[in-house]
Amino acid sequence: MAVTDKVLAAFKRPQRALMLGHVHPDADVLGTLLALGLALGTRGWTVAWGGPHPAPPMLAFLPGIERYARLERVEGPLDVAVLTDCPNPERTEGLLDQARRTGAAIVNIDHHHDNRGYGDVNWVEPGAAATGEMIYELLMALGAPITPAIATNLFTAIHMDTGSFRYSNVTPTTFRIGGALVAAGADPAFVSGQLYERRSLEALRWLGQALTRIEVSPDGRVAWLALPAGAIPETIIESEDLVTYPRSVESVRVACLLRERNGVVKVSLRGKGDVDVSRIAAQFGGGGHPNAAGCTVPGPLERVTRDVLTAIRAALEAR
Ligand code: AMP
Ligand code: MN
Ligand code: MN
Repeated sequence: MAVTDKVLAAFKRPQRALMLGHVHPDADVLGTLLALGLALGTRGWTVAWGGPHPAPPMLAFLPGIERYARLERVEGPLDVAVLTDCPNPERTEGLLDQARRTGAAIVNIDHHHDNRGYGDVNWVEPGAAATGEMIYELLMALGAPITPAIATNLFTAIHMDTGSFRYSNVTPTTFRIGGALVAAGADPAFVSGQLYERRSLEALRWLGQALTRIEVSPDGRVAWLALPAGAIPETIIESEDLVTYPRSVESVRVACLLRERNGVVKVSLRGKGDVDVSRIAAQFGGGGHPNAAGCTVPGPLERVTRDVLTAIRAALEAR
């Protein structure tokens, strides 16, 4: 993983930076924006954090998260806007264009293979399990100290994007960096406790309700969970990685979560290496990684479910 001179040059002298997040921010984008911004802050930078949606309550434990704001608009003066984990400008709901109009240089740091290269500086590493790995390498190259707060943010970023160090994107580098972050003060038991062991009994019962809706194709290769609007509270859907359950069925090669809200269906796709699910998502205007991708499609739920299942079946047949 090579941090280029161009990337390093962008962070050379102290400036005013906006750390700009993508829609429905997750641990990888928030952990990396916080880690990098905190490090820059100690070097004399003026840093603000924000994006189109607020941080989810389940990530309230990330050090510095209280500084991440939902932004209506981006206003200058601004020298640099940093985006992490964001493959395309649409995933900022217009905020990136506003940042550009302030005259800010756009720095795009990401691990999605389908990244559009929209920045003035672009650094894309599809082999990185998480953008968290890249920001760790960047901080090393900058000679920035890894404080416990920074370590916790980066460790959580990597933790989430690797399904707690379980997915096929995990490499020796993932463990090397994970180990360094633990040595620097990230506490694995604290992080997994915060992520997975803060449910209410009510939330556990809702999870049970949701799981009864999982369906599996006759050949066992496709499993899906379709949630009509209002069937399960949004707070439950947002705090549970529901697509992991249909994927956990042994015979399943592609799993899918479809959730309807405000007339659109948010689709999450997961694979096990047989087909590139980001290509299925791309057919519906989305994208992602070979084994984890998504798209948002206009409803109704029944038609989207049928269309997505047809595309999954075609992908499985074509391989
Ligand atoms: P999710 O299913 O929302 O956890 O997303 C899994 C992966 O797919 C992430 O890497 C996202 O960046 C990507 N992804 C999800 N939704 C979209 C979308 N509408 N457009 C492009 N990429 C998406
Ligand atoms: Mn993300
Ligand atoms: Mn990511």
